[in-house]
Amino acid sequence: MNYLSTRDTGVSVSSSRAIAKGISPDGGLFVPESVPRIGLSEISELAGMGYIDRAKNILGRFLTDFSAEELDSCVTGAYGQGFSDKKIAPVVTVKENMHILELFKGPTCAFKDMALQILPRLLTVAGAKAAKGREIIILVATSGDTGKAALEGFRDVPHTRILVFYPSEGVSPMQKLQMCTQEGSNVAVSAIRGNFDDAQNGVKRIFTDPGIIKKLDENGMAFSSANSINWGRLAPQIVYYFSAYCDLVAEKKINCGDEINFVVPTGNFGNILAAYYAKEMGLPVKKLLCASNSNSVLTDFLTTGVYDRNRQFYTTISPSMDILISSNLERLLYSMAGSEKVKEWMKLLSSEGKYTVDDETLSKIKEVFAAGCCDDTATKATIAKYFKEHNYLCDTHTAVAVTVYDRYVETTGDTTPTVIASTASPFKFSRAVLEAVEGKTSDLDEFDMVGRLAEVTGLECPAPLANLRDKKVRFTGCCEKAEMDRVVFDMLGI
Ligand SMILES: *Cc1c(COP(=O)(O)O)cnc(C)c1O
Repeated sequence: MNYLSTRDTGVSVSSSRAIAKGISPDGGLFVPESVPRIGLSEISELAGMGYIDRAKNILGRFLTDFSAEELDSCVTGAYGQGFSDKKIAPVVTVKENMHILELFKGPTCAFKDMALQILPRLLTVAGAKAAKGREIIILVATSGDTGKAALEGFRDVPHTRILVFYPSEGVSPMQKLQMCTQEGSNVAVSAIRGNFDDAQNGVKRIFTDPGIIKKLDENGMAFSSANSINWGRLAPQIVYYFSAYCDLVAEKKINCGDEINFVVPTGNFGNILAAYYAKEMGLPVKKLLCASNSNSVLTDFLTTGVYDRNRQFYTTISPSMDILISSNLERLLYSMAGSEKVKEWMKLLSSEGKYTVDDETLSKIKEVFAAGCCDDTATKATIAKYFKEHNYLCDTHTAVAVTVYDRYVETTGDTTPTVIASTASPFKFSRAVLEAVEGKTSDLDEFDMVGRLAEVTGLECPAPLANLRDKKVRFTGCCEKAEMDRVVFDMLGI
């Protein structure tokens, strides 16, 4: 199976090449030329398997130029000791019809690990096939969790180097500490003065700058991307939607063939897009509920068809969703309206910051998606309520999804069994979670707060977070947007 660009279907490359390149030269994203279908009998078979076999099965349908041995070694290496739960992505039933898919059991305690533990392995194989032995340079723009997960995934991986840019005023203290203490000989981290969109736009520009690409080429290097625009990030995320469904079947909470809903706390639209592909493949899904914080650009878009990034940017307690340009939406638009329209809309997005889709596209979107948003006050109230009433502690991002879900049920009466994606450990966002649970502000430092949260909730802080206290800070730099090129060259020594 080949991959096309969302902006030029004349571009057609193998899966390894799509992963090695990250983004198409025309600025478009790689998408599968067709979505492989999976039948109920096959889903029923997957229900009898563990996560690793489910992953091999689903990924094998997309990554067709990887051999079975190559996939086997990538999958087995990724989903092993780095995870603190042997189910990898366990499903917890919180109340009737409401299940939480815990995606934060990996080494950095956020759902990004689900993809970033395997992406470096896929890239190493793909690089050997497609990048002709050149050193692969990973540039990352992060709203917090991607950066750390990518650093951890790529550290000391041969023939790769990784450089992460994060917005100086837009990550939690714990996220910042996780990145700035990163170990490994091929890693670097820099803050950039600006917000996540500034970081992401800067990275995208560098990726497609012909002068920079040439300079790397002359030095035996080539860029690739670990952001969720890389197909190698998305494909592994499709797996856990199947896995969650299979777990519910295996535990007899649903019958194979029953429809379920998924609720996904959304930023760059990568996670929920993976759920959409799972549905397209044939997983019985009724609705995908897209949950946003006060940066509600997606809620507005999915309900009105108008995408307008010209609005106030809010810094919230769910910082990984503080995004006004959701890159992966482009793949959904391609799937629903084709490349000509995508090209037109993306041009408008970059020139006007705004576009409006046609009625036919909007009605297709509404058939599949529902959307909602909530502010920090509601998010905190949900954390407190679910801890008190269900003894379940959510992180801030997950709580946005839970809030939006509860309101959705209230307004629609839809009692379809629902799986909510939980994207981070509550200990990663201790201040907000602790304040929610205790109902008062806290002036403790980051680590005392983690300790206090453990004490108040009776839960244990995950080891990778607890251990940060003794790590040395290695990276302190902060650059302007205009200086990003120089930071890249400095790191690469070219
Ligand atoms: C990245 C992230 C999100 C948003 O996921 P997208 O794929 O960007 O939509 C939500 N929650 C957490 C904790 C994250 O790290």
